[in-house]
Amino acid sequence: MKASDWQWQLQNRAKTLEQLFALRPDILGGPMEKEIRGRQKAFDGTAHQFRFSVTPYYLSLASRTELDPIWRQILPDEAELSDHRFTQPDPLAEESHMPVPGLTHRYPDRVLWYLSHNCAVYCRFCMRKRKVSRSESAPTLHQRNAALEYIRSNRAISEVILSGGDPLSQSDEILYSILSELKRMDHLSSIRIHTRMPVTCPQRITASFARMLRRLEPITVVTHFNHAQECTEQSARAIRQIRRSGCLVLNQSVLLSGINDSVRAQRDLQHQLLRMGVKPYYLHQCDEVQGVSHFRVNLSRGMELQKELRGRNPGISLPLYVIDLPGGGGKVPVDSSYFVQKSPPEFKNFEGHRFAVHPDIPENSGRLSASQSSPGGESI
Ligand code: SF4
Repeated sequence: MKASDWQWQLQNRAKTLEQLFALRPDILGGPMEKEIRGRQKAFDGTAHQFRFSVTPYYLSLASRTELDPIWRQILPDEAELSDHRFTQPDPLAEESHMPVPGLTHRYPDRVLWYLSHNCAVYCRFCMRKRKVSRSESAPTLHQRNAALEYIRSNRAISEVILSGGDPLSQSDEILYSILSELKRMDHLSSIRIHTRMPVTCPQRITASFARMLRRLEPITVVTHFNHAQECTEQSARAIRQIRRSGCLVLNQSVLLSGINDSVRAQRDLQHQLLRMGVKPYYLHQCDEVQGVSHFRVNLSRGMELQKELRGRNPGISLPLYVIDLPGGGGKVPVDSSYFVQKSPPEFKNFEGHRFAVHPDIPENSGRLSASQSSPGGESI
């Protein structure tokens, strides 16, 4: 096996500080070695709850000298251990809308099915930290069959979203058996695969995987690029393979403090996505998950950013800025027609019910934004 093989990438992931340094000897003696060693407490303190893991490929994208958007997404932070703002591991109530283990049925016509709790890279802002990165909590064969049976017998369901963890951490054989079963259900009009593999391990998109997609198309593949630095030639090749198999490719990203919360960062990402043939679909407000509040951008700032982008960019490049309402209220656009100006702020969902969200983090709270942290970043 070699670096171009996805299994090699997964088997050779850095899971400890020493493995990280072994994969990136070029940072030894420089500012990033100091920065990373200073995070020993964060590495130790978060290990039992949400693991550290990164592929050699994704790690190679990180800067040699500065804490860039790649490092910020993968390095444990002490702020994860002392999050007093968000206290819930599952604020979207995904676990309490689960008719069978591993499948959330929240909207009448859609189900979200967690095919794996493994990912190539563990993103520190992950909204499913409560179970992702723990391989022992992955669904069993019995649970997979129960989920298939549930979908088969509920004809009101028209869309199945395969998510995780990363569903593409399953083998092609398992994916084929699941997808072909779903394709046989004539009440389903849409199957979506949500995956970050084209970003963190593009080697996963092999010719045989693409052939499998071609046999099953149309399927919608939703990727998760957060920053233009992730849009490499390898990723573009992976996207090309998926598109040539007849699938629609969309991208969802998360608005992340210090990573992509500037006009420049958003515009560069959107343009790179379009260059690869990916339609920017959703920009998510970071969820109120315990241990991620240091990534959160306040809502008014997020809305202002959207306004700035709308004026300067073609409509096709603009994702919809959305918030997933705490308590299982569902996803709504962050705009004035859904927003109820109150303290704490509230949103109306698709049924007109009101859901309170966490109050905005005050401006000038001292946290870094992408515009401050990346060279050439543009202030909003
Ligand atoms: S790839 Fe997705 S599910 Fe996996 S850690 Fe990242 S955000 Fe979470």
